[in-house]
Amino acid sequence: MSTNAVNANQGGFVSLVGAGPGDPDLLTVKGYRVIQQAEVLVYDRLVSEEILAIANPEAERIYVGKQLDFHCVPQDQINQILVEKAQQGKRVVRLKGGDSFIFGRGGEELEELSEHNISFEVVPGITAAAGATSYAGIPLTHRDHAQSVQFITGHIQKNGQEIQWSSLAQPNNTLVFYMGLKQCRHIQANLIEQGIDVDMPCAIIENGTRKEQRVFTGKLSELANLAEQAVSPALIVVGSVTSLHDKLKWF
Ligand code: SAH
Repeated sequence: MSTNAVNANQGGFVSLVGAGPGDPDLLTVKGYRVIQQAEVLVYDRLVSEEILAIANPEAERIYVGKQLDFHCVPQDQINQILVEKAQQGKRVVRLKGGDSFIFGRGGEELEELSEHNISFEVVPGITAAAGATSYAGIPLTHRDHAQSVQFITGHIQKNGQEIQWSSLAQPNNTLVFYMGLKQCRHIQANLIEQGIDVDMPCAIIENGTRKEQRVFTGKLSELANLAEQAVSPALIVVGSVTSLHDKLKWF
C-alpha cells in the first residue's frame, strides 16, 4: 500500500510509474492514484498531457525528457533531482512512457535511490510492445504463428554491445524492436543474414495507441523502405503474427 509506505518513511518517497504507451486511458488505477497524490512529478517526453493533468495543479512538474540523439537532462542529473526531492521529504512520482523496467532505465534510477536509502515503489505500465500491437490487431503470440516473443533494443548500447543476432532467428518467434527506426537497414540485413526468410511479414507501428497511430506492413525485404515512411515513436515487429493485422485491425 503506497500510502502506508509513505507514512512509514519519515523522508520522501519515490513512485516509479509506467504511464503506458500513449492512450491516457491505459494508465493503471494505481498509477492514477499515486499521480493524484504527487508533490513532485518528474516526467519524460512520451508522457501525455492528459496524464500530467491528473496531478494536483500545485504539484511541481519537472520535465526531463530525452530524445534519441539529444539528451535534455543527462541521466546523472535526473538521478540527482530524484534524490534531492525525496531528501526534502517530498512525495515524488517519476513518470515514464510505457513500463519503466522495459528500456526505461528504471533500474538505474532505483539503484541510485537505493544507494541513498530512499524508499520507493514501482507501478508497472503497459509497455509499447503490448499496447501498440494490441491497438494494431497483432497478437504477439498465437498458436498458429508464434510460441515466443523477444523485445530487443535497436539503439546502440552504451558499452557498444551488439545484439546477439543469432539468438533472434528462431522458428515461430515474434521480434519486437524498440528504438529501431533509424537502425532498420541494419536490422533487416542482420535478420536476413541469420536466415530469416526475406518474405517474413513485418510491421511498423507508429504512435501506437494514439489517435495518430499508423501501421505499415510488408515483408522483411521491404523493412528499411517501410521505415523511411514512419516517424518516431515506432515499434518494429517481425514475425508471421503481423500478417493478422489486416484481419484483426480495429482501431
Ligand atoms: N519504457 C518504454 C520504452 C521506452 S524506449 C515502454 O515500455 O514502452 C522508447 C521506444 O519505445 C520508442 O523508440 C519506440 O520504439 C517505443 N515506443 C514508445 N511508445 C510508443 C508508441 N506509442 N508507439 C510505438 N512505439 C512506441
